[in-house]
Amino acid sequence: MVFKKRRRNLKIILLTVLIVLIAVLGWLYYQSEQLKSRADSLLKYGDAVNALASYKKAQSIFPLRWDLSADISGAQLVLKSNQDYDQISEFAELQEPPPLSNLPSAHLAPNELFVPVLMYHHIRKNPMPNNAVWAALNVSPDQLDQQLLYLSLHNYNTITLDELSDALDGKISLLPNSIVITFDDGYRNFYDNAFPLLKKYHMKSVQFVITQVVGIPAYLTWDQIIEMDRSGLVEVGAHTRHHPNLPDLSQSAIIDEIKGSKMDLEQHLKHPVNWFAYPYGSYSPFIMQTVKDAGFKGAASTVYGTNQRKNNLYLFPRIMVDGRFSLDNIARRIQK
Ligand SMILES: [Zn+2]
Repeated sequence: MVFKKRRRNLKIILLTVLIVLIAVLGWLYYQSEQLKSRADSLLKYGDAVNALASYKKAQSIFPLRWDLSADISGAQLVLKSNQDYDQISEFAELQEPPPLSNLPSAHLAPNELFVPVLMYHHIRKNPMPNNAVWAALNVSPDQLDQQLLYLSLHNYNTITLDELSDALDGKISLLPNSIVITFDDGYRNFYDNAFPLLKKYHMKSVQFVITQVVGIPAYLTWDQIIEMDRSGLVEVGAHTRHHPNLPDLSQSAIIDEIKGSKMDLEQHLKHPVNWFAYPYGSYSPFIMQTVKDAGFKGAASTVYGTNQRKNNLYLFPRIMVDGRFSLDNIARRIQK
C-alpha cells in the first residue's frame, strides 16, 4: 500500500517536473523569439549593432536555435560593411593556386570541355597592400583593364554559365578559347570599376550576389543589379542570403540560405536564376543536393581547374585571379 502510494507520488513529481520543464523551455523560446523579431526589425532599419546584440542574446537564451546562427552571420556582415567599406576581408573565397611549374594537366577526357572560369572579388585599388589576403583578393581596375585587353587581343570568347551548360549538353558548340569570368560577393566596386570595362570590351561575366546585403554601402543596389542583368553582359547568380559558412548551419537554415537567395533574386529580376556559388567554397553532400533541389543548374567551387564536365556542374572548378599575378602568369593558366 505504502509502496503503491510512493510510486504514485513519484509519478506526480515526475509529471510536475516535466510540465515545469516544458513551461520553462516554452517561456525561454518565447523570450528568444521576441528578441529575434526585435533584432529583425532593428536590422531592417540599419541598426546592425543592436540587432547583432539582440540575436546573440536570443541565442544565449535558447542555444538550441541553430537558425539564429545565420541571422548572426548576416548581422555581422552588415555591421562590418557599415563600419568600414574597406574592411571586408573574411567574407571571401580564397584559393591556393598551384605554382606555374605544377599546373594540372589540361588533357581532356572525352566528355570534357576546356573552359577556364576565372574568379574575382574586389576590383579596386587595394586599400591594404601589405596584407597577403588583401593582395590576393583585390585586383585594380588597371590590372583588370590589362587582363581584358589580353583576352580580347588573344581572341578569347567570354561566355555565360548558361552557354557553358548548353555546350556540355551538346545543344551549342563553343568558339575556341571560350572562357567565363566570375565575380563573387556582389561588391559595389564591381559596378563602379568592372562593369565599365566589360562594356568597353563587350565581354560577358557572372556576378554572384549575397541577397540580404544588397543596397548597403559596400554592396550593389537592386537598381544596379537589374541594370547589369538587362545589359546582357552580366549573368546574375546567387551566393546565399547572408554568406554563412553553410556546413555550420542546420538543414533548415541551409535550405533557407540557398532557396531564399534564388527567390530574392528572381523576385527582382523576374526570370530564373540558374547558378550558385558556395560561400568560402564550403559544401557537403546535403548542401549540393539542396542546390540541385532549389532548381539551380550548377554551382561554382573554389577547386582549381580548367576542364568542365557535365556531371561536375555542381562543383565546377575555377581559377582565382590573384591580385599579385602577372599577366603572363594568368596567360599560362588559361592556355590549353
Ligand atoms: Zn563569397
